[in-house]
Amino acid sequence: CGIVGYVGGQPALDVVVEGLARLEYRGYDSAGVALVTGGGLATAKRAGKLVNLRQALEEEPPPAATVGMGHTRWATHGAPTDHNAHPHTDCSGRVAVIHNGIIENFAALRAELEEAGHKLRSETDTEAVAHLLEDELKGGAGLAAALRAVCRRLDGAFTLVVMSADEPDVVVGARRNSPLVVGVGRGENFLASDVAAFIAHTRDAIELGQDQIVELRADGVTVTDFDGRPAEVTEYHVDWDVSA
Ligand code: GLU
Repeated sequence: CGIVGYVGGQPALDVVVEGLARLEYRGYDSAGVALVTGGGLATAKRAGKLVNLRQALEEEPPPAATVGMGHTRWATHGAPTDHNAHPHTDCSGRVAVIHNGIIENFAALRAELEEAGHKLRSETDTEAVAHLLEDELKGGAGLAAALRAVCRRLDGAFTLVVMSADEPDVVVGARRNSPLVVGVGRGENFLASDVAAFIAHTRDAIELGQDQIVELRADGVTVTDFDGRPAEVTEYHVDWDVSA
């Protein structure tokens, strides 16, 4: 439902949770965040309103991080529980995925993954993506190349944002039939399903095109298609007012 990603110099958790709050108007049933922390990933997720997630984060504050992402879920596959909330991780816990939309062929993908020994822990269509990424990364691909390969196997509508503990400086996003916008800052960059999430930080934006992938780093963004060909991007300025 709502998606926020951040790479930069500010505390990522604050930017991400604030961004999710600005997307609350869309409605959702659960919320979660993932942060790249020294050597690993920290995740927290809770069913219910953002206040439940905030409370969990207060009780167990994650380590400081400058790279992170967050999600508010509107459940389509799997009940709205803590467990089914996003982010979803692979078996190693070193890759995290958030997702808007529906992956139509998830049942076939899930069966294939289970056959190959993956243990899936949620009832969502989303989790399959984390395990598919795990296999691509094991095969030697970098995170962006791995996500491109996975996207080529997915049917349906999706915005996906992923992070890996092994590539701590980057957040990678992809979209098909579901929106994803980049917020361009100075020494920091944002990803969101809606500009409202980052408008407090920057009004310079790039709308991702159909079947495109973006690699988001503190010092720049790279956009390609699902085959890795560079894509042309047009930056625009958001000059309308957002009340949130
Ligand atoms: N299909 C996914 C799920 O049920 C994502 C739903 C959404 O767009 O929030 O978990």
